[in-house]
Amino acid sequence: MSTAAVESTVRGSKDQLATLPSVDRILANRAVATLIERHGRTFVTRQARALLGEWREAAFAGQTFDSLGVDAIADALATRIAARLVPALKPVFNLTGTVLHTNLGRAVLAEEAIARVVAAAGAPANLEFDLGSGARGDRDTLVEALLCELTGAEAATVVNNNAAGVLLTVAALASRREVVVSRGELVEIGGAFRIPDVVRSAGARMVEVGTTNRTHPRDYIEAITPRTGLLLKVHTSNYEVRGFTTAVDERTLAEVARRAGVPLAVDLGSGSLVDLAAYGLPREPLPQDALAQGADVVTFSGDKLLGGPQAGLIVGRRTAIAKIRKHPLKRALRTSKLTIAALEATLGLYRHPETLAERLPTLRLLTRGADEIAALAQRVAPALTSAIGDRFAATPAALESQIGSGSLPVAVLPSAGVVVRCRSSRKSSGRELQALAARLRALPVPVLGRIADDALVLDLRTLTEEAAFVAQLPLLGPMETP
Ligand SMILES: *Cc1c(COP(=O)(O)O)cnc(C)c1O
Repeated sequence: MSTAAVESTVRGSKDQLATLPSVDRILANRAVATLIERHGRTFVTRQARALLGEWREAAFAGQTFDSLGVDAIADALATRIAARLVPALKPVFNLTGTVLHTNLGRAVLAEEAIARVVAAAGAPANLEFDLGSGARGDRDTLVEALLCELTGAEAATVVNNNAAGVLLTVAALASRREVVVSRGELVEIGGAFRIPDVVRSAGARMVEVGTTNRTHPRDYIEAITPRTGLLLKVHTSNYEVRGFTTAVDERTLAEVARRAGVPLAVDLGSGSLVDLAAYGLPREPLPQDALAQGADVVTFSGDKLLGGPQAGLIVGRRTAIAKIRKHPLKRALRTSKLTIAALEATLGLYRHPETLAERLPTLRLLTRGADEIAALAQRVAPALTSAIGDRFAATPAALESQIGSGSLPVAVLPSAGVVVRCRSSRKSSGRELQALAARLRALPVPVLGRIADDALVLDLRTLTEEAAFVAQLPLLGPMETP
């Protein structure tokens, strides 16, 4: 742009600046009065100021506007307010094929758990109040008996998540001491949870034993010294070492620990309170087995396979749990009454394994039959085809879903869904699919799939609200030309 042109733009926008109406004039507009009635003067005034501020800055930066009249501003204000009032955290359709998706909040709660959360949220509750004695109580005792009943543990405590459970266990049992861990179990979980970092953060020194593929009992035995505070076994939930491998099982390790007079903690990660093989799913280790094999402490997540709220469950021997509960970090890592309400209700479902697969959404989704999902895909595909426009073809297809959240990524569940491809095999098809994915994410209830092999894949295993899904498809925005 020539200097003269730049100057004229600047002059143009500065002139426009001078004509920007005042906040008072905007607030006096009839359309804005309606906004004020609905949303209150404070909020609307603040948004009007912010909008004017942004426009002023844009004008300074040389941007010119078609109109800066009061009506145009009222329109922009209404749009801005509508956008601001959409909740930041909202439900989405998780069609990624990963049932327990950490980025999407993992387990969906059972109806029983939701009802109990709602009840606890809206009223005071006996969170730390013993109704029998009338004295101060402990929030842990509310679910401790149930956890002990289900796992056979002597005692139990609950923290904010399993990462906190491991951190607290190491801090309480081995701070300023050594923690012995196999090199084959130095796990990193998504979201920067790494065993070496956790052990260090807990104030302990990690002693690695064995090799990546093989660790033997004598490796642990040779590493144990008077400085040893804890043996830690970590379930390698998100990867598998195959071939020439050996690891020391819980029973043998517990014997090594017992002889040395050192506690054994097992981090199961997901852990499952029921044998998933009985439901035709890949086996996950059970906390009750680890305890029966002699572990002093077992930690596992509340919102992975357990299917409850985000929480870290710590179960084990009375003495070890007492130390964990007394540690000052416990206060910082404790759970809220909402979590405890959801956890108690979820654990309660495990008392009735006969109905668990119907009542616990996580198990219901994981055991959903491929045939049922395929039938759903057949019903949904036509609606999707007509909504996404004729540049794409949506076809039902057999797929494989994953459990997620650290459960073996190599274990897949036969599933079905809709695969969307570009009709033209142009070079831009990748960008067109990205644009389509963005349109789906912009729906009132965002639809999240995955892009793989030049296709947008929507795995329908986790689609339970079929009618709501189809109903919002016509709202799909227009395709932007890539
Ligand atoms: C998932 C996992 C954790 C962390 O649990 P969160 O509940 O996500 O904090 C720790 N250890 C293992 C082995 C895991 O799989």
